[in-house]
Amino acid sequence: MSRILIVNAGSSSIKLAVFGEGLKSLLTAEAAGISDSGELRIGRNRQPAALADHADAFERLLEGLAAQGYPAAGFDAAGHRVVHGGASLTRPERVTAALLDRIDACSPLAPLHNPHNAAAIRTLTALLPDLAQVACFDTAFHATNPETAVRYAVPPSWQQAGIRRYGFHGLSYEALLRRLAETTGTAPPPRLLACHLGNGASLCAIANGESVATTMGYSPLEGLTMGTRSGSIDAGAVLDRAEQTSIAEVRRDLQQQSGLLGLSGLSNDMRALLEDGGEAASFAVEHFCYWCARHAGSMIAAMEGIDAIAFTGGIGENSEAIRTKVLQRLSWTGVPESAVHVIPADEERQIALHTGKLLHLE
Ligand code: ADP
Repeated sequence: MSRILIVNAGSSSIKLAVFGEGLKSLLTAEAAGISDSGELRIGRNRQPAALADHADAFERLLEGLAAQGYPAAGFDAAGHRVVHGGASLTRPERVTAALLDRIDACSPLAPLHNPHNAAAIRTLTALLPDLAQVACFDTAFHATNPETAVRYAVPPSWQQAGIRRYGFHGLSYEALLRRLAETTGTAPPPRLLACHLGNGASLCAIANGESVATTMGYSPLEGLTMGTRSGSIDAGAVLDRAEQTSIAEVRRDLQQQSGLLGLSGLSNDMRALLEDGGEAASFAVEHFCYWCARHAGSMIAAMEGIDAIAFTGGIGENSEAIRTKVLQRLSWTGVPESAVHVIPADEERQIALHTGKLLHLE
């Protein structure tokens, strides 16, 4: 029987999941608010915890798993979510020293994520040098996008510097496709609009099971209105603000102070905005839905039509109100209710699947 540990290290959180035989989920754990007012959750047990940094949080999580009967030495393999695989890491890979170097080389493309992903791999390697580890890349699913979709219209020197569209949420979209096939028992619809709507939000045009376009680009900043990220904005406006303030301030504003939070002045949390119902909150909600539908038009054009829509992510799965608003704006597509699907996000199991497959685990 195989036991697989899944590691999903974010900018201020680490999520772990343990899978057993038949990819049964055995236990999940999460450290949130690292270097801030932290919290540790092992299974259903939550407690406040001062988590100095990612290494500290990871150690505490592994102790928590061990206390529940899942010591690190008992794992047959580990699978990691790695946010950025750059242009060349386009499928899951067995971790080696050379692969770690390549993940490090992608760190400038995802400075808030890749260094933490690589650090988690190194921590486990130091602890268990013989443990087989696999890295799964969140950009990989979009490697099938055509060059016209991937390129920005910029000079060659930009292209050489790696400035192109990569796309993210790939593991979520792969999981969505798998779950959709499991529930419908059929091949994926020829032209599927997939909507990952969470704190981070993106759309993906999936034609015959392959990504052909997605709304996130060079970084997870492009595309939809998000929790605290602006989504698409004229680069001219960004340049002007950078000239008048500072690069650091613009970066912080666009990533942490914009989106639903910036529009409402209240919260980045969709549920809180829906409950608030005031003018500012409602405007932020309408903005989110309007731009979701408007970008959907672009995805539909990339597929030259649409047969089905699938929602996933915290908002996509849980908020019927948001789904209804978005679907109303897309009623012109003629997609029937029977072709609208709601699929729980399942990235961890997707990583476990890739890990098991690559390592030929039973
Ligand atoms: P992340 O991108 O950080 O993984 P999630 O996918 O967990 O985020 O999504 C978080 C978002 O989902 C928050 O805006 C939260 O308010 C929203 N959400 C969760 N449940 C509901 C609900 N029942 N109604 C509306 N929004 C919800």
